Amino acid sequence: AKSAGSGLYARYDPQMHSGLVEKLQLAADLRRALDNGDELQLHYQPTVELRTGDIVGFEALVRWRHPVRGMIPPADFIGLAESTGLIRPLGQWVLAEACRRAVEWGGDKPLTMAVNVSGRQFDQPDLPQVVASVLAETGLPADRLCLEMTESVLMTDTEENLAVLLSLKEIGVRLAIDDFGTGYSSLAYLRRFPVDTLKIDRSFVERLGGTTPDAALARTIVQLGQSLGMATVAEGIEQYAQFLALRRMGCDLGQGYYFARPLPAEEAVALLRDPAAV
Ligand code: C2E
Ligand code: CA
Ligand code: CA
Ligand code: CA
Repeated sequence: AKSAGSGLYARYDPQMHSGLVEKLQLAADLRRALDNGDELQLHYQPTVELRTGDIVGFEALVRWRHPVRGMIPPADFIGLAESTGLIRPLGQWVLAEACRRAVEWGGDKPLTMAVNVSGRQFDQPDLPQVVASVLAETGLPADRLCLEMTESVLMTDTEENLAVLLSLKEIGVRLAIDDFGTGYSSLAYLRRFPVDTLKIDRSFVERLGGTTPDAALARTIVQLGQSLGMATVAEGIEQYAQFLALRRMGCDLGQGYYFARPLPAEEAVALLRDPAAV
């Protein structure tokens, strides 16, 4: 019915009707979850230095424990948050919570906390002020925060987004391109934007395992990062062979189930304090 393109058909499609109602209900629930309660949580996935095996940071990943529907994965509500404008308060909450943890856990060794920032958040010209005030409130040094964005941020509203990224750079935060290699950003964009880190998409890491391993794409991204002076992080490392291949290529950092899944705060800090115990 969705593709029928006929207004009449769509209007009488009860499934589409319930879809809309459900969406509105979910948006209301999300608004409520943001206002009160502990339904929203962050899980933290360690980032590991491939050469040494040390945990050098975490990526914060949002989770929603809905009182009726149970766990709703971010893929099922980030889009809704974007289309309703709720991404703004949600993004601010994620940022503040992740920075608080980074300060709490940092102590003797400096940790980098990576936070996902939706393209919609870059549409807010005051994003740099929001980031600066969270850093000031939490006391996290700017270079301990890494903001992850997708290639689309480099490709749309280029001038406005470039201005926002330059302001963020001035504050001193790090910037990473997430899911690198899946979009269509050109090398010219990469050089123009003040990016510190490339995160190699899981799809390329997957090809390093299995029966017909294909290392060419991952290797190309690592070399690209090296020649542009950017750090490289491989996401979705699940197997020892993938870890080994990436380390041999000179990829700097890695994340994935091979090291650890995203963990609740208490488990993440336990892993940080005593990696052998987990
Ligand atoms: P992402 O930023 O690419 O995050 C990586 C996703 O891969 C996470 O899914 C993580 O749990 C999963 N993952 C990590 N290691 C492995 C592995 O070894 N194998 C496999 N198969 N998966 C692995 P998650 O937590 O469901 O997040 C999905 C997406 O939702 C994220 O993709 C990110 O784009 C978005 N997201 C999550 N949290 C936030 C947030 O706070 N703000 C915004 N704007 N987006 C978020
Ligand atoms: Ca990410
Ligand atoms: Ca924009
Ligand atoms: Ca990804």
